[in-house]
Amino acid sequence: MKVCLRNFSSKSRQAQFYQKLHVRQTVALVDQKLHKFVKLQQATMSIQDVLERMNDFEDPSDPDVHNSNLIHAYQTAERCRKAHPENKALQVCSLIHDVGKILYSFGEPNWAVVGDTFVVGCAYPRSVIFYKTLLDNPDFENSEYNSRLGIYSEKCGMKNLKISFGHDEYLYLVLSGNRMKHHLPEEYWDIIRFHSLYPWHSDNAYMQFMTLEDVALREKIRQFNSFDLYSKADSTFVLTNDIKEYYATLLAEFFPVPLNW
Ligand code: FE
Ligand code: FE
Repeated sequence: MKVCLRNFSSKSRQAQFYQKLHVRQTVALVDQKLHKFVKLQQATMSIQDVLERMNDFEDPSDPDVHNSNLIHAYQTAERCRKAHPENKALQVCSLIHDVGKILYSFGEPNWAVVGDTFVVGCAYPRSVIFYKTLLDNPDFENSEYNSRLGIYSEKCGMKNLKISFGHDEYLYLVLSGNRMKHHLPEEYWDIIRFHSLYPWHSDNAYMQFMTLEDVALREKIRQFNSFDLYSKADSTFVLTNDIKEYYATLLAEFFPVPLNW
């Protein structure tokens, strides 16, 4: 059966959602959000509790997910487990990749939580979804930002770019800010950080900034994306107690204590 995913129509609720996101996600906005959330002063919670909270959240930016984000988490992890039964860290990464959407319960608007991301502070690639509405972003008029390199330098590395703010960057901040409290290796934080950067991992944009390391990272993100995206077509998925117990054990192993959010 052929599955058709990421089919965005111009009259959909996704189009309205991206219109808001695209005019608000500026360099200044990203700086402001990073400044606020890097402090991790929102809450102290176990990642297990945060994952459970995904049950209350459906992603308005996603044309392919029609159930709660908790189901999406387990579906992504299970798809990963089938392909990599021995790689527990990648399974955990798959399970938690979207829990940054807890931003939603800290009062953040949808456009600062979900949606495909893009690099702020340089020219927008045409492959950005609903590219036209990005042209209304105030940064588009700024000649310091609107060029091939913008505020960055050639081959500066993807990690040194500012990405539009949302659940990817937020969970990265949580994982790096709590580095002494969990056992998930850093390479998985990077997969999480860039998983919504479709112009990069799926459309080959931003090559001017890439290092050799970024080539390898992009490959890992592409592999991860196959679990994240295609699990959305698993309409027969049932969340059993066995599945829940398997991941409860994994999470207890990788995240033994509560984290600061
Ligand atoms: Fe996501
Ligand atoms: Fe996802």
